[in-house]
Amino acid sequence: MAQWLIKNGHLIDPANGLDDVMDIRIANGKVAAVGKSLGAEMGDDVIDASGLVVSPGFIDIHCHLREPGQEAKEDLLTGTASAAAGGFTTILTMANTRPVIDQAIIVAGMKYKIQTDALVRVEITGAVTKGLEGKELSEIGDMAQAGARAFSDDGYYVNDGRLMRAALEYASMFNLPVISHSEDCCLVADGVMHEGCVSAKLGLKGRPAEAENIAVSREIMLAEMTGGHVHIAHVSSKGAVDLIREAKAKGIKVTAEVTPHHLCLVDKTIESFDSAFKVNPPLRTNEHIVALIEGLKDGTLDAIATDHAPHAYEEKDCEFNEAPCGFAGFETAFSVLHSCLVKTEQWNLQALIQKMTAGPAAAFDWKDRGHLSVGGLADLVLIDPKKEWIVDPHAMLTRGKSCPFTGMEMVGQVVRTMVDGKWVYQDGKIIRN
Ligand SMILES: [Zn+2]
Repeated sequence: MAQWLIKNGHLIDPANGLDDVMDIRIANGKVAAVGKSLGAEMGDDVIDASGLVVSPGFIDIHCHLREPGQEAKEDLLTGTASAAAGGFTTILTMANTRPVIDQAIIVAGMKYKIQTDALVRVEITGAVTKGLEGKELSEIGDMAQAGARAFSDDGYYVNDGRLMRAALEYASMFNLPVISHSEDCCLVADGVMHEGCVSAKLGLKGRPAEAENIAVSREIMLAEMTGGHVHIAHVSSKGAVDLIREAKAKGIKVTAEVTPHHLCLVDKTIESFDSAFKVNPPLRTNEHIVALIEGLKDGTLDAIATDHAPHAYEEKDCEFNEAPCGFAGFETAFSVLHSCLVKTEQWNLQALIQKMTAGPAAAFDWKDRGHLSVGGLADLVLIDPKKEWIVDPHAMLTRGKSCPFTGMEMVGQVVRTMVDGKWVYQDGKIIRN
């Protein structure tokens, strides 16, 4: 097995409190040494990482790979190639495939396919309810035993509180989180964007922030009642941030994530009627963004998650009201946040890396991920923090070519990704081992 000595990189490993120019040695698929001026050992391939940032591999706890069933949008190979290009070495894929991942046998089948097709580590979310229909609980215990790492009906709110309560109770027996797509179904109805001045002006139906706040409130109360762990997906409203902050202070087991698009884009962008901006929950306003950034800074929000949700270009290329929600997010996530928040000095690089590595690992108690400890997994990325590039979805490895950041100028990009001691991505290309 190849051995690597990565020299003179700026190592940022928040879990271990490291932030300095250091060397790192990789051997037998593990981190063999971290330190200053490490000497090369026999068989080492030496890489000069001067000017580059070395970080633990990113962890995305929210994505959609579309396999099984919708491989025209994405499959395990293109999805994980895209993840590798974005610097993600572990991703958690959602259950809204066809068939829905709601039985142990489907989890087992996915795990088998992942072994042959995936370029990065893929963890599986099982559905909370059968077929994501919100009517009957799925086989939570059996799926946990088959290796599911979380449960969610993401895309839908579990409208029936009794079912959500039961899901939290079952999942807690396996110490696993239930991930909530928190939007009150009746309040959002057929809204297509944030309800406010812009939706009124455009004459489009709105989804009020209160729909999210109300949904999050119930989840917090059920987590308190059951002692289960609820994780709030893609937090987008100020009210939700406030509720989660209060719940955490009370010791309730709630964690939360925020996406790059909810941090960097506002509802006003929809004036172009470009369906690339259509997501659920919707893009909101600056006031909400300020609260989200505050939530990241004070620890209310644990992780950045992409909600990578690719669609075929033809599907998104239609009238705003008709277009499906979501877009491919792996390959822009780091660069968007680095460009919009770090380069503008609203946030710092160390904190951004923490929310993409140690933060998500701690939220889901994945102790072996998100750090570069000696003896630990050799999952890492090299980042060129000065690299300037322009977002062009056609140059991306995902099949999802609709992207709200198209044409935007970026500073900073992942240039190499290593999983399990092997390089899987370098400078725009996948390396198959
Ligand atoms: Zn969702």
